[in-house]
Amino acid sequence: MPTIAKVAVNDATIHFDKLYSYLVPAELCGRLWPGGIVLVPFGRSDKPRMAVVLQLAEESDPDPRLKTLLAAAPEDARLTPDLLELVRFLKDRYFCTWYEAVKAIIPYGAQYCPGVEDGKPVVRGRLTRPLETVYTLVGELPAKPKPGPRQQAAVELLQNGPMTRRALEDQGVGRTTLDALCKKGVLRAEERLKSLDLFADIPFDPQPIELSPEQQTAFAQLSEDLDAHQPRAALLYGVTGSGKTAVFLKLIERTLAQGRRALVLVPEIGLTPQMIRRLKATFGSRLAVQHSALNNTERLLQWRMIQQGNADIVVGTRSAIFAPLKDIGLIILDEEQEHTYQSESSPRYSAHEVAKKRAAAENALLVFASATPRIETTYAARAGRMRLVTLRERYGGRPLPTVEFADMRAEMTAGNPREVSARLAGELAENLRRGEQSILLLNRRGYNTVAMCADCGQVVKCPNCSVPLVYHKNRQALMCHHCGHMVHPAPTRCPECGGKLLYSGFGTQRVEEELHQLLPTARILRMDQDSTGQKNAHETMLTKFGRQEYDILLGTQMVAKGLDFEKVTLVGVLGIDSLLFGQGFRAYESVFSLITQVVGRGGRAELPGRALIQTAVPEHPVLQLAARQDYPAFYQEEISFRRLSLYPPFCALCVVGFTGAQEGAVFTAASRFGRILADLASRHPDLPLRMLGPVPMNILMLGGRYRYKLTLKCRNDAQFRALLRAALDAYAAEKLPGKASVVIDFNSDGDL
Ligand code: ADP
Ligand code: ZN
Repeated sequence: MPTIAKVAVNDATIHFDKLYSYLVPAELCGRLWPGGIVLVPFGRSDKPRMAVVLQLAEESDPDPRLKTLLAAAPEDARLTPDLLELVRFLKDRYFCTWYEAVKAIIPYGAQYCPGVEDGKPVVRGRLTRPLETVYTLVGELPAKPKPGPRQQAAVELLQNGPMTRRALEDQGVGRTTLDALCKKGVLRAEERLKSLDLFADIPFDPQPIELSPEQQTAFAQLSEDLDAHQPRAALLYGVTGSGKTAVFLKLIERTLAQGRRALVLVPEIGLTPQMIRRLKATFGSRLAVQHSALNNTERLLQWRMIQQGNADIVVGTRSAIFAPLKDIGLIILDEEQEHTYQSESSPRYSAHEVAKKRAAAENALLVFASATPRIETTYAARAGRMRLVTLRERYGGRPLPTVEFADMRAEMTAGNPREVSARLAGELAENLRRGEQSILLLNRRGYNTVAMCADCGQVVKCPNCSVPLVYHKNRQALMCHHCGHMVHPAPTRCPECGGKLLYSGFGTQRVEEELHQLLPTARILRMDQDSTGQKNAHETMLTKFGRQEYDILLGTQMVAKGLDFEKVTLVGVLGIDSLLFGQGFRAYESVFSLITQVVGRGGRAELPGRALIQTAVPEHPVLQLAARQDYPAFYQEEISFRRLSLYPPFCALCVVGFTGAQEGAVFTAASRFGRILADLASRHPDLPLRMLGPVPMNILMLGGRYRYKLTLKCRNDAQFRALLRAALDAYAAEKLPGKASVVIDFNSDGDL
């Protein structure tokens, strides 16, 4: 009986993401599985496209018009049943296409694309397989003709075991020498799949971990859930410096002892070096990493290592939640409040939700950890939907840093033109004198934020995006932080009226200059996206700061989190007000968390810490609570606000975004969609739904496209998603002129 494969193709739109049927040719029978990656002829021109097989069926009498599959990728490209289940989950939850879900799960280097060989369509790996040549000693070096010193050196080196060509070349043994020795039968050369130890320099050095009594209690509670071999979730809420990492290490140890594996997620790659270091030192080489700072080859090799069962622990950022790890017993989301756990491109998934799904499938324990958990997470824990485990004290009984404010209104009145207040400058000087280190958080990169015309008052904006351009001193250019548009050299005259441009506002580069003027002897390290472009830049910088080669670490959010340096006793926070008055229902939560996190970087060892927050509104309740580092009080305030104003966790917030080249058409499309949805919803009065908009998004234009949104306050269940799907279908069926593309996001903070 002929076999029929039902597949989903690459580059579909959400409206046309159907399953298409193809005949399986005889030579591929038995070589296809659900989750297999195949090449199919698609559309009128039969252009080859990649596709994923979702179902296979035998049919006695198939439709004679069916086309035949062209080729299939090898078995190791196949999605295992667990991963295929995740594809279904992503598709259902996040309104992406099947193939977008596949591409989120399989890293670029392990993906396949259409190719041609001998005029025939074939599948081709995105990366050629990274191979390396390995030499092994297989014979004696003949005495005649007398071997040269290089040949002798090569044989000497290989006495201790096989070596790669790279390693031999590093020792001064070249290719000609090696070729000659192979010819003589002294050496054998073999091509091997490159293996790579990303952390070869980190010694295996397991230290016994003695938990404090409080840590021990937390560990014992979590162990109960781990040992249950049931889907469980817990929130480990522990103040900064309470030693959550020590509890993780113990839990991982226990998981491995049970013959299971652990997945550890961290929000940013900047935090990974310290975490990797600890894990590697404790657990050795069966550790794999998955994050975007790896190049495609490194990432592929690490992924294969996991796929082949050679890793027991995986550490990585958001997408590591899709690691092909089997027998997972423990999943940790460290600093779970971070927004980087939400994907901002399709599939717009939340690592929290995917982690829950995986923990359920694997009977694993899922641990969310934070000093400032998301309001939703704490709410769920307090409602008894997961275990709440608390670490109230810093490890070693050290006090939390004291926090004070520098009132920027007073600074202004006193005539200080700088961004660094006199008070902060004084504290920095004091630290310098004492040989202690300081961390300054400034939530904005670049030099001067904007260029404004003195005559017409216009701010110079990006031509593609409705945002101001930012001055970058080292490039002498104005740059768009969204699309990368650059104006070089930075103009002095207004492009609108020719008036003189004033550069005002501030950024990390500007503050760095001020610091150099104020403290000429201070060694200052600036860490932001501009200075950390190079690979390993983060780790190198942090290592140097840790070795006290610098006095002040100045940076954007990336300095706020996870760092643990004993000599840091002063933390300064600059430019927090713009976040406080920012949009989005999580603005207060972000400010509270950011301040608590960065303040927590100080006074972690013997020396007590202090923090200074620069603000024009020191009396603001959120700043006051953050200064006291009183998360429970903040939670009370915030949860009543969320209840009163109807925000998560009391509803789901779904943003439906519309984008297109013409503003009028985008607005019309958004309005039309809103009406369709309202009509459909009126037939389901039992479904709670409030719709707001359409209104322009916070940034009206981005990359030349206009943007509008509808905001839905709803209950995110299967019934509501079915309704939304019906609305999308009806919208797609309408012949609207200049129809806009639609994006659905259930995890935004109110904007896209
Ligand atoms: P958190 O992540 O909760 O902010 P860390 O895990 O970074 O805190 O721990 C804070 C500091 O205390 C670190 O320097 C860590 O090495 C130390 N520490 C915590 N627990 C222990 C322990 N059980 N034994 C030794 N040192 C510990
Ligand atoms: Zn732009």
